[in-house]
Amino acid sequence: MTSPRPAIVWYREDLRLSDHPALLAAANTQAPVVCLFVLDERTPGVRPLGGAARWWLARSLRALQESLRGRGVSLVLRRGSASTVIASLAREVDAGAVYWNEIAQAPHQRVADQVAAALGGVATHKFPGDLLVAPSQIRNKENRGLRVFTPFWRRVQSLGDPPKPLPAPKKLNGISAIASDALEDWHLEPTRPDWAGGLRENWRPGEATAQARLKAFLAGGIAGYSGDRDRPDREGTSLLSPHLRFGEISPRQVWHAAKFAAAEHPPLSSDIDKFLSELGWREFCRHLLYDVPDLATRNLQPSFDAFPWKHDTKALRAWQRGQTGYPIVDAGMRELWHTGVMHNRVRMVVASFLVKHLLIDWREGEQWFWDTLVDADAGSNPANWQWVAGCGADAAPYFRVFNPILQGEKFDADGVYVRRWVPELKQLPDNLIHQPWTATPLELASAGIELGKNYPRPIIEHKVGRERALAAYASIRNR
Ligand code: FAD
Repeated sequence: MTSPRPAIVWYREDLRLSDHPALLAAANTQAPVVCLFVLDERTPGVRPLGGAARWWLARSLRALQESLRGRGVSLVLRRGSASTVIASLAREVDAGAVYWNEIAQAPHQRVADQVAAALGGVATHKFPGDLLVAPSQIRNKENRGLRVFTPFWRRVQSLGDPPKPLPAPKKLNGISAIASDALEDWHLEPTRPDWAGGLRENWRPGEATAQARLKAFLAGGIAGYSGDRDRPDREGTSLLSPHLRFGEISPRQVWHAAKFAAAEHPPLSSDIDKFLSELGWREFCRHLLYDVPDLATRNLQPSFDAFPWKHDTKALRAWQRGQTGYPIVDAGMRELWHTGVMHNRVRMVVASFLVKHLLIDWREGEQWFWDTLVDADAGSNPANWQWVAGCGADAAPYFRVFNPILQGEKFDADGVYVRRWVPELKQLPDNLIHQPWTATPLELASAGIELGKNYPRPIIEHKVGRERALAAYASIRNR
């Protein structure tokens, strides 16, 4: 009896073993399996990863290598154009078939089509894997995706539960001695300078951590989620976003685990529903990206093409470095730089501040987030920036300008979050922590603060910023 020809499993944004339809299907054929990750940084339309996401990718690949090694399979790493690399590996190992999970994004689908074409007669098997529901299942009468979240989410829910997650393969047959790049040679992690200390301190990428985090969150952390999710001073959210971003856990694993927890603990149902609706926002952003591949560059509302953005490098730099003089904004930007994430409420506040108070184009902020977030996502990042800027789908109206002082006082009432990230303000009493410039000279002196020296004065007064933003908006409103 001849043994089956090897099956290649092409890994992309699905760095896990469980609920991996492509891996399971390949394993079920009993053929020897070659797992492959291609670093393809020049694909037209696919955005090269930012610095923080590259760090995550390196660690996540290492975790995947270890899990696969534990099952007798090595992860082959190769660099170059995916179609060339995969076709050449297929010849090298005389592959009988190539398996992969689809990514519902136009440029990724184009690459997958090129791979299939380059493989000639080799069979290809594709599976859905990165969403709860395929974009083709949620269309309006004009065959377009829905642009408003509430009906979108209602429609997703009306389709019932997504298919149950698949188990990891029980057995994998590996092949030995296939040439692979060394992960270190890809230089995904920064060295000179090594700015990733805060990332190492805060994160352990990989499927095992993702599963453990979900389990712990559903076992207790989720109680009170509906209110706590807005509080940057509390640990009230799941912190699953980078794990979801790299597919270390699948959205349907999260969905089913959450539904199970709700059935087991009915008092948690409303918090769990809220949590699932946030997963729904991820889905919504990705469906939007499916329809609008240039979401990161094009205003969804064309009237914003005429918006009078300011080119203010100095203000942009102050924002990036957490030196705006608004404690909640500065705390968020420093949290981002140190940990690679920022609390969702604060993301909204800092984004609004950049776009409205500073009148800086949302694309500048989106790009900075893209480079510094470990969860930088091709759908969620631009969709949320457009939402905050007022130019997106189902967007917050532009005239709703967040007041950074009130946002701080409401969601970080005791200043715990600000004191953590802006330690120079630590000694200020709670009533001044979100507006140090209103302190008397004596209060400032006893807190060890010299405004303009060891903490900046506000780079723009709130009232002035707000009025300027509204005037800029009025200039495009009737176009
Ligand atoms: P939880 O509250 O535990 O939510 C569970 C999951 O739901 C998250 O892991 C995430 O996958 C999803 N989710 C939650 N809120 C949103 C949202 N508003 N939009 C889309 N998905 C959501 N999220 C990213 O994953 N990547 C990004 O690049 C990103 N950029 C953002 C930019 C801006 C300007 C704003 C305002 C929000 C952005 N978000 C982004 C959404 C949100 O801030 C993060 O998903 C959230 O903070 C992650 O923390 P968590 O995993 O603890 O969330």
